[in-house]
Amino acid sequence: MIKKLSLIFLLALPWVCVAAGTQVNGVRTWQAPDNTRVVFDVSSASAEYKVFKLFNPPRLVIDFKNTRLTGKMVKPASKDIILKNIRSAVRPNKDLRVVLDLHDKTNFKSFLLKPYKKYGHRLVVDLLHGGRQKNESKAAAGKHIASKNSTKARSLPVEPKLRDLVIAIDAGHGGEDPGALGPRGTHEKDVVFAIAKKLAALIDKEKGMRPLLIRDGDYFLSLRQRTQKARDNRADMFISIHADAFQDKRVYGSSVYILSENGASSEAARWLAEKENASDLIGGVSLDDKDNMLARVLLDLSQTATKQASYEAGREMLRELKPLGKLHKKEVQQAAFAVLKSPDIPSVLVEAAFISNPAEEKNLRNKRHQSVLAKALLNGVREYFIKNAPPGTFYASKARQHIIASGDTLSEIAQRYHVSISSIRSENKLSGDRVRIGQVLKIPAFGDG
Ligand SMILES: [Zn+2]
Repeated sequence: MIKKLSLIFLLALPWVCVAAGTQVNGVRTWQAPDNTRVVFDVSSASAEYKVFKLFNPPRLVIDFKNTRLTGKMVKPASKDIILKNIRSAVRPNKDLRVVLDLHDKTNFKSFLLKPYKKYGHRLVVDLLHGGRQKNESKAAAGKHIASKNSTKARSLPVEPKLRDLVIAIDAGHGGEDPGALGPRGTHEKDVVFAIAKKLAALIDKEKGMRPLLIRDGDYFLSLRQRTQKARDNRADMFISIHADAFQDKRVYGSSVYILSENGASSEAARWLAEKENASDLIGGVSLDDKDNMLARVLLDLSQTATKQASYEAGREMLRELKPLGKLHKKEVQQAAFAVLKSPDIPSVLVEAAFISNPAEEKNLRNKRHQSVLAKALLNGVREYFIKNAPPGTFYASKARQHIIASGDTLSEIAQRYHVSISSIRSENKLSGDRVRIGQVLKIPAFGDG
């Protein structure tokens, strides 16, 4: 009897020690274009650690004080250009040492993340890529544009060059941020990325448009990084794709959001506060050399125009989403989503469906349904730009037509397509303002009237 007791005691002893220390329960890596993120699941927020660099060969060391590794250690992806290998060892003082072997000298950032959804406390180590890759990707992007232009130049030797519309497609969440979770465990970040990729493929095939995938893998981007990438690429439109969630699993349907008034005014304040050191242009105008009053007026004009454009684009998308199922909200909604805050890029956020609703979760996972959603968004984008293409784009030069519906008037049509009434009259050889239902009107190109 005594023997048995002592055995239990001995077995129990190591666990007491472990409970007193910290555990690393898992290690993951996420590869983004300009960084590799290494995430450690730690058992408590009070985990003590230090991170330091070693050279020859380059590596980063993370020492966790009095810690045991209970989870699996991952291998970095073979194509990872920053991280070569991860290994761990227990030191004599019971510290856990994790060594990240690096391809090259690398800067890093480290911080603790609080529990969120399925994850607990985490230590994040970001390995930042140096300038090399950034330049390469810029050069590659430049090449892409150049080759597109040169094709156009060959096919249109006489006409001036018409540029493509750049459509920024932002799949929500990513990496450590899974977004909403469906009842079957579906991650929002995965299904919205699938829809985003399908939309990008459709836009790529569309003459006069070019897609820009804001996130093109499973990694985290801050909301500012997302809008900044759109600005850097001079996007003509920004579409953020998400899936909704609600406690009541019966709630379903799509909704489309644009930036609210509150969101716009707080963003205006930020631009004005930072205008001295902002190299960005707002709608092609620099704010940094304007006095505050003028800068405020210019910013306000740009935001008002952008809001109207976002609203019109959102309405076109709702119209296309409607036949796919009941809409959650019939009208374009407004909210202070940070990702919609570009003052001069029409921006919409589409909640494609409710991932919390079992039937919609199933749809969101379904490849065919993803394509249907992507097609609806493409149609919305197309409809919007047929009426609102910026000058100098292929879309602005595209011949447009309008079929007269009940209640249409010439002045309203002219307004909608941003052309003059007289240009519609002359294009269609009309003498007065009389039109009949079903009549097909040619709409002149922008700037023709
Ligand atoms: Zn979301």
